[in-house]
Amino acid sequence: MRRDGTLILCYHRVAEGVEDPFYLCVSPGNFAAHLEEMSRAREPSTLADVAVPSRRPRVVVTLDDGYRDNLTNALPIAESKGVPITVFVTSGILGNHHGLWWDRLGTLLRSRPPHVKEIELPVGGRNVRLPLGSSGIRADLDSVRRHLLPLRVREIEQALDAVSQQWQVSSVPPDDAATLTPQDLRQLAASDTATIGAHTVDHVRLRDRPAPEQQDTISGGKAELEQSIGRAVSHFAYPFGGHDDFDDRSVDAVRSAEFDTACTTIPGTARSSTDPYRLPRRLVMDWGRLRFRAQMQRWKLG
Ligand SMILES: [Zn+2]
Repeated sequence: MRRDGTLILCYHRVAEGVEDPFYLCVSPGNFAAHLEEMSRAREPSTLADVAVPSRRPRVVVTLDDGYRDNLTNALPIAESKGVPITVFVTSGILGNHHGLWWDRLGTLLRSRPPHVKEIELPVGGRNVRLPLGSSGIRADLDSVRRHLLPLRVREIEQALDAVSQQWQVSSVPPDDAATLTPQDLRQLAASDTATIGAHTVDHVRLRDRPAPEQQDTISGGKAELEQSIGRAVSHFAYPFGGHDDFDDRSVDAVRSAEFDTACTTIPGTARSSTDPYRLPRRLVMDWGRLRFRAQMQRWKLG
């Protein structure tokens, strides 16, 4: 008999009516509908069971990055529907934090003064100039993000600070894009419905970074979360998670940090034979109930 395996879903934020240039939000109403639909078709499960063969097809819900709405919006819905969630938290957000860099970038570009027609990014010791405003904010976001993505997060933050100063505008993201505080994290971890997973210290794109740097951010993120919640953190998700976003060194670092599993965003269904350090996931968008149901069918075939 062909086993159906485990469908691992990847969410980020559960929030209503907010600025969402990167398509990271699912509304609370749609999230509730998704949990109902997936529970009808599959058995809600956790990453701890992924390697255990099952006759019934399973589904695992994960949320990446560590937004505060995971506690305030997603958790109560998950608890009421009886669906466990795993939240992959970027540990650096727990300290003195001004928002995730892509949200800061979104805030900056939305408040761009009208006379400013280009952005100047101090990147790797030289200034890169990119034109802005000709094809809309999403195009601007894409082009700037592409240039920032390969940099160290510290360099990205510095570049955004410089632009914020130059334009005399704030880069602090709106309250609805707030991330978990240490107290929020402990509250989330205290729920039987939630499992805390790691997502590096700083959400750097790991690929092609030197091994020691990858090891630091991967094992450092684990240690910081464990210290904060007082229990072991056994699951990891690669930042961004695509083929181009991590490499064999990342996988080695995850293995030596003694994680049990690591999730990618490479599409597919996990089976008991799947490499536990390269688990596929399906990205979920803000779909209504029927669209989500159709997607579940499509994923089953793919
Ligand atoms: Zn992420």
